[in-house]
Parts: sequence; structure tokens; C-alpha cells
Amino acid sequence: MKTEPVAVASCREYEVQTVKAVLADLIGKIDGFAAIRPGMRVGIKANLVAAGKPETAITTHPAVLAALCELLIERGASVVVGDSAGGPWTAPYMNHIYSVSGMEAVTAAGGEMNGDFSEAEASFPEAVQAKSFRYTGWLDRCDTIINVCKVKSHGMMALSNAVKNLFGTVPGILKPEYHYRYPNPNDFADMIVDIADYWKPVLHIADGIVAMQGNGPTRGTPYPLGALLVSKNPHLLDRVTAELLGLSVDDIPTLQAAKRRGYLPDRFSDITVIGDWESLRADRFERILNRNSTLFAETDTAWGRLKRRVITAALGSKPVVKRAECVGCRQCEKICPAKAITMQKGIPVIDRKQCIRCFCCQEFCPKGAMKVHRSPIAKLVNH
Ligand code: SF4
Ligand code: SF4
Repeated sequence: MKTEPVAVASCREYEVQTVKAVLADLIGKIDGFAAIRPGMRVGIKANLVAAGKPETAITTHPAVLAALCELLIERGASVVVGDSAGGPWTAPYMNHIYSVSGMEAVTAAGGEMNGDFSEAEASFPEAVQAKSFRYTGWLDRCDTIINVCKVKSHGMMALSNAVKNLFGTVPGILKPEYHYRYPNPNDFADMIVDIADYWKPVLHIADGIVAMQGNGPTRGTPYPLGALLVSKNPHLLDRVTAELLGLSVDDIPTLQAAKRRGYLPDRFSDITVIGDWESLRADRFERILNRNSTLFAETDTAWGRLKRRVITAALGSKPVVKRAECVGCRQCEKICPAKAITMQKGIPVIDRKQCIRCFCCQEFCPKGAMKVHRSPIAKLVNH
């Protein structure tokens, strides 16, 4: 199976000209700007999921976005950078995120931050799950899209990288609704892969200079991975990133979905990786592995349901509030698509029967008080 190459290089600092030189080299190696023509308006789909200073590793770092803006502008394109976060899809909310996450670097580099907060409806009959979905309208006003994600651990999907980043094209608080619509992680992963198939960005860049480990995608801790990765194929980019972090295809539902569709070669060694990626392997990266894909494998027979219950109890992860860190803001209660959270004496209480383990509460808790709890057996197995 002939695959698009993935180019990887070491980069250890967020200095715009340093990042620009590394990016230019990587993009050149895979002819990554082949589709970019002078006069084009290029939309950069960043990861701006929540307000976080650049050093928190919540968002794509502004130095990476600024470096890419400069390269595109030198090629004669104009650039707009955008994303929809996990809150309201409105100018005040997004402008706050732009400000906190250092996006003035984008405008300093000659790019523009998106100011269009319209929505549109996509029809995608050939999709496996997402045959129609809502999306952020700013993307319609771009001639082409480049996807620039942040390498992060993720409560539900294990890895947030190129493919998962494109779920951010669904507007703001509609995202939890999609979790509810697709409670089975395999269906949810298929939906995300559909969205990636719909947009088909011409290039994918992963900011792994400082990744996020642990309680991701918004409350983990920075991990200095020291890597930039570039490819025209998001699944292969995710596969190589997973390999760097010590994760397998079976750990990541979006990679499993890609495998089911024949988007991945059977063997990692069949992927063309340009660069000394092995020297960038993570040492002690704190992962969240959620064995939900196993949990939902069989539900149509009594034996399958029993097996699922036992595996859920033994291996399943669940959201748990850390009372000492909770400020009782009710954000988790409002965001929970399954209505599984009620506030009791100022603390959220989760109805485990209702909970679909989407981890929206963990993702959107502004204080990081909602944690992913793993059973001791799960920790042992995942180790
Ligand atoms: S969102 Fe976080 S801080 Fe707010 S009530 Fe829920 S757990 Fe507590
Ligand atoms: S309690 Fe949290 S994990 Fe469970 S359904 Fe609600 S938002 Fe999702």
C-alpha cells in the first residue's frame, strides 16, 4: 500500500523564526504547499478549544500559527485562523480565547483571526455516521484549509490530534449534542472521521513541540515532546504521533475507524516517515486509555451485554469530581448532554446509569476539577 509520507523533525522552542525554518523544511519535503496558489484565502483550522495561555498546551501555540502564516503569505496567499471552542459560538467568547491564547502573534504575522460566527448545514450522504451535520460558516469563505492541531491526550478518544481536531468545525455547544447522538465511541469516532473526510484539508500539521499529557484535552499538563509533524494525510499523521507517544491503533477509536475504512496500512513499517522520528519517542508520557471501544463491542446478545458490564466495571474510565477543586460553577451540569449531572449542596453528582462517558464535563470544567478516573485494573492493563 503506497501511503502519503509523514515528515517529522525535532523542534524544542516556540520562537517564530526557529519554528518557521523547521516547518518550511518539513513542508518542502512532502511538497505540502502544492495546492496553495497566489491569491488564495487559506483557512487555518487551529485548536482553540478553551482559553489557556500558550504555555498550558491547551491550544495550538501562536508561534506555530504565526510561522505558518508567514510562509503562506510569502507564497502569495492570505490567511484566516479560526476554531470553535467548547462554549458559545460568539464573538465575545472567541475573542476572549484569542486574547488569552496569544493569537495577536497571528495578526502580527499578517494573518487574520476569524470574525465570522455563522453556521451552516453539511449534507454528506456517503458518510458512515455524519450524513448531515452543522458546521462553522467561516470555512465556506476559505479557498482551502490547513489543519494545525495540538498533540494532546484525550479523555474519551485517548488522542486529540489531526483527525480529532476537525471535530472543532462543529459549532460550540452543539458538540456535546453530538456526543449524545453517538454515545458509542466507535460511532463517535466514525462521525469524526466522516467530518475529516468531508473537509479534506490539504495539509495537516501537529504541534508537538510541547504536547499535553494526562487529564487532556484541556486540563492535562505540558509535556516537552519536541516534535513537529506534517502530512497530507491526517490518519497517517495520527498513527505516527501515536507511535511517538507509545499508543497503538487499538487504543485510539479514530485510528480504529480509519483502519476499518482501509485508510491505514496493516504495518507501521509500511508508512513512509521522513526524519529521525525514533529519537523523538516520548519517555513516560502520561496517557489516558479508555477501553470504551471494547466495552461497546457487543451489545446485541445477553452474553455480550453481560461481558460489557463486567468489562465496564473492570476497565472503564469514568468522570469523578475532585471536591476540593470544584467551585460549584455548574458548567458541567449545563454541558452534560445526557443530563446525568445534578448539583447537590454545590457539588456535581453524576448519575452513573445516565452517564454515557463522553467526558464533556471533564473537557469543559474551567477548574480542572472533573478528572478521568481509571480503575486499578485498567491502570495495570494500560501500563
Ligand atoms: S464545571 Fe468543574 S468547577 Fe464547575 S461545578 Fe462542575 S466540576 Fe465543579
Ligand atoms: S457526566 Fe460527564 S461524561 Fe457523563 S454524560 Fe455527562 S458530560 Fe458526559
